[in-house]
Amino acid sequence: MQARTVQQDSKIENQISALLNKLSLEEKAGQMIQLVTDLFGGNDANGVFHIDQHKTDSIFKNYKVGSILNAPNTTAPTGKQWEDYVARIQKSSMKQIGIPCLLGLDQNHGSTYTSDGTLFPQNINMGASFNREITRKAAEATAYETRAASIPWTFNPTVDLGRDPRWPRIYENYGEDAYVNSILGTEAVLGFQGTDPNHIDQQHIAACMKHYLGYSVPWSGKDRTPAFIAPAELREKHFAPFLNAVNNGVLSVMVNSASVNGMPVHANKELLTTWLKEETGWDGMLITDWADVNNLWQREMIAKDKKEALSLAINAGIDMIMEPYNADAQPLIVELVKEGKISQERIDDAVRRILRMKFRLDLFNNPAQKIKKYPEFGGKAFAKLSYEGAVESEILLKNQDNILPIAKGKKILLAGPNANSMRCLDGGWSYTWQGNRTDEFAAKYNTIYEAFCNKYGTENVKLAHGVTYKQDGKYFEENEPDFASAVNAAKDADIIVACIGENSYTETPGNLSDLTLSQNQRELVKRLAATGKPVVLILNEGRPRIIADIEPLAKGIVDILVPGNYGADALVDLLAGERNFSAKLPYTYPSEINSLANYDFKKSQEVGTMAGAYDYDAKITQQWGFGYGLSYTTYKYSNLRVDKPNFGADDVLKVSVDVTNSGNMKGKESVLLYSSDVIASMVPDGRRLRAFDKIELNPGETKTVTFDLKASELSFVGYDGKWKLEPGDFILQIDHLTQKITLK
Ligand code: BGC
Repeated sequence: MQARTVQQDSKIENQISALLNKLSLEEKAGQMIQLVTDLFGGNDANGVFHIDQHKTDSIFKNYKVGSILNAPNTTAPTGKQWEDYVARIQKSSMKQIGIPCLLGLDQNHGSTYTSDGTLFPQNINMGASFNREITRKAAEATAYETRAASIPWTFNPTVDLGRDPRWPRIYENYGEDAYVNSILGTEAVLGFQGTDPNHIDQQHIAACMKHYLGYSVPWSGKDRTPAFIAPAELREKHFAPFLNAVNNGVLSVMVNSASVNGMPVHANKELLTTWLKEETGWDGMLITDWADVNNLWQREMIAKDKKEALSLAINAGIDMIMEPYNADAQPLIVELVKEGKISQERIDDAVRRILRMKFRLDLFNNPAQKIKKYPEFGGKAFAKLSYEGAVESEILLKNQDNILPIAKGKKILLAGPNANSMRCLDGGWSYTWQGNRTDEFAAKYNTIYEAFCNKYGTENVKLAHGVTYKQDGKYFEENEPDFASAVNAAKDADIIVACIGENSYTETPGNLSDLTLSQNQRELVKRLAATGKPVVLILNEGRPRIIADIEPLAKGIVDILVPGNYGADALVDLLAGERNFSAKLPYTYPSEINSLANYDFKKSQEVGTMAGAYDYDAKITQQWGFGYGLSYTTYKYSNLRVDKPNFGADDVLKVSVDVTNSGNMKGKESVLLYSSDVIASMVPDGRRLRAFDKIELNPGETKTVTFDLKASELSFVGYDGKWKLEPGDFILQIDHLTQKITLK
C-alpha cells in the first residue's frame, strides 16, 4: 500500500476560517464537547427511546455541544429509528448553533448499533483471513449501512497490537503483528472513508483509529491499566498502524485510556502533539476515550480537579472531549482560556480540526439521510460478504487422521456452552455493548447447532451442552455442569463436536484472572474423550484460552474466533468439506501462562542449558505459532529468490517464491514473508513479518508470488529512539525456505 500525503482542500479551509471568525469562545468550547444520546431524550412506557425536543434544544442552546455518541440505552435501534433521531438532532443543532452535530458510533464489526444492519466477523477474524479485500469491503459495507442510518462517523478500526493474550480486547484488532495491523487497519480506513478524505461521499463515513497509543499491553493484563513499553518498541511497532493510516488520510484518532511509562496518554504532549500531529503533518481530530479527562484527576492522580485535567489534556493535544454525561467541561474551557491557562490558538486549532471533519463529511449540506435511498442496507450482498469473511477466517489447527471433513450421514453430538449461542458467535459490540442480548436480536441467524441440523439433518444431530454459561451473570460465570447428559448422549454418536471457549464481553468487564480455559469446560472435554468417540474441538473465543491439557484428547481442532452472524454456516460448510480452510493464526497461541511471547520474540528470550553449569534453561513454549493454520490441501513452496541479494539502502528488492497446490482440493493460501536482522546494534527481533499475500490455487497449479521489499523496511528503531538501517546480513524467509541478503 502506497502512503500518500493528503492535500487540504483550500475551499474547505477558507470556509472553516470564515466560520471560526464568527464563533464566540463559548461556541468554540461547545464544539469540543461530546455527550451521549441518552441525554437528548428518554424511553416511553414500552422502553422505546424518543428524542425529546425540549431537552435537545436546551442542551444545544446552553452548551453548544459539537458531537454526540452511542446508541440510546447502549442498545441498537433500527436504521429507521436512527433516521428519526438524527433528523431531530440536526434540526435542533442547526437552529441553535448553525452547525451540524457530529454523531459517532462504535460500528465495530459492522452495524453494531443498527439492529437491522449487517454484522461481520470481528477484526481478529479479518486478521486471521490475511485478506485485504474482504477487510476493505466489510468496512465499505459498514460505512454504507452506517451512513444509511444517518451516522457519519465510526470509532473503528482498532489497531492496538494484540500482543498480550490476557487483555480482554484482543478480538477487536487484527492480531499481534504491527505490519498486519498497519495494512488491514488502513484497508479498513479506506473502506470506511473512500479514497478522498477531503470529500467523503454519502456512502462513506469518517474512521477513528484507536486507541492511541500502547493501550494493548497493560502490565497486569487488565484493561485500562498502566503499560510500560520500551520507547523503541512504542515507536517501531505500536505507532506503525497509526502512522500508515495518518498517511492515508484517517480523519480521527481516539486516545488510550491508560498510562504508558508513567504518563497518562491523555496528558502526553509528546505522543499526542509531537509524534501524531507535528511530525506527520496530520490535520485530523483527536478525541479522548470515554470520560478520560475525569480519569486524569479521579484515577490517575495527575490533576487536582476537572479543570486542571482539562487544561492538561487540551494542552497536550486533545481536540474533542468524550464526556459523556455532563457538559460542564464547556464553561470550564472558557474559564481556562480567560485565565490564560489554555491559549486561544490551541482552542482555534482544536475547533478547526473538528469543523474540518464536519466539512469533509459534507454535514452542512447533508446532515441526515433517508434510509430508503440505501437499498443494499441489511441486504444479501453484505450477508454474502460476511459469510465469506467467516469462511476465510476460521482456522483449522488440527486434523489428525483426517477426522475432517465430517461425512453426511454421521451421527453427531454437539456439546459445550458455545454450541447453540448467537451471543458467543458475535461476541462483544453486538447490538449492545456487552453483546449480552444477541440471542434476541440475532434469532434469525444460525447457531452452530442449527447450522449442523441444516447440513446433516435434525435426525443426525444431538445437542447436550454439559456446560452452560450463566446468561445473567458475569461473562465467565457458568451454571452447575451436567457432564452426565453429554456423556450419555455421546453413546449414539459417531463423532463429538465440543464447542467451547468464551461468552461475550467487552472492555474492562472482560478482564480475567486465569487465561486457562474454564475448569468445567476442560473437564467436559476429558469426560467426552473418555467415551472413546472421536472429539473435534470448536474454539469460539475472543482471545486464546489455554487448552494444553485437552489438546491431545482432540482429533480435530478449529478456532473460529468470533466469526459473526454467518460464522456457524461457514463452519459447517468447512467441516463438511464443501469449502476449504485458509485462515492462519493472527497471534501466537500460548500453551503455558509463564511463557507468553509473540512470534517476533528475541533470540535471547530463550536460554539453553550452559555446558558444565547448573541444569537450567528458559524455553518459549507455544501451542501453535503465529501464522499457523492447516487446510484440506497441501502447499509446496519452492524457488525463493531475490533479484538483488547485495543491495543498497535505497533499493527495492523483488522477492519471489513459487507456491504449488500439491493436494487434491482447491484452496487459498496466505504467503508470509519474514526477515531477520542477523547482527544489529540493539538486540534484534528474531524475525519480522514484512509482507503477505493471499492467493488461490487449483490442485496441481503453481503460482509465483512476488513481493516488492524496500530496503528501508528492514530498518529498526534503535535504543536512542531513531530509525536505523545497518549494513550487514539479513535472512529472508517464506515457509521453510530462506535466503541470505546483504546490505552494503
Ligand atoms: C471504549 C472505546 C469506545 C468508546 C465509545 C470506550 O469505553 O474504550 O473503544 O469507542 O467507549 O463507546
